[in-house]
Amino acid sequence: MSGRWAPAEAYFGLHVDCGHYSTHREKWLRLPVARFTCRWGCELVAVGAPDVIHLTSRTVPDHARTCPGRNAAHRP
Ligand SMILES: [Zn+2]
Repeated sequence: MSGRWAPAEAYFGLHVDCGHYSTHREKWLRLPVARFTCRWGCELVAVGAPDVIHLTSRTVPDHARTCPGRNAAHRP
C-alpha cells in the first residue's frame, strides 16, 4: 500500500505508514512516513525512520503547546 490512507485525508490526527524494510535486501523498499494534522490545520510531515521517530515522540506532543492556530484562537 502506498499513498495516504483515505480516512487520514478527512480527519485531523496522526497517521503513520511504517514503510517496508526488506531484511533480504537490507534496505527500505518504502520509507516510513508520518503525517500529523492538528485540529487548527497545521500539517507536519516526516519521512524516514529517524524523522518519523522524532515527529511521533517529540514534535506532536510539543505541538499542543506551540500550535500557532490554537494560540491565535485563545488570544483576546
Ligand atoms: Zn497546530
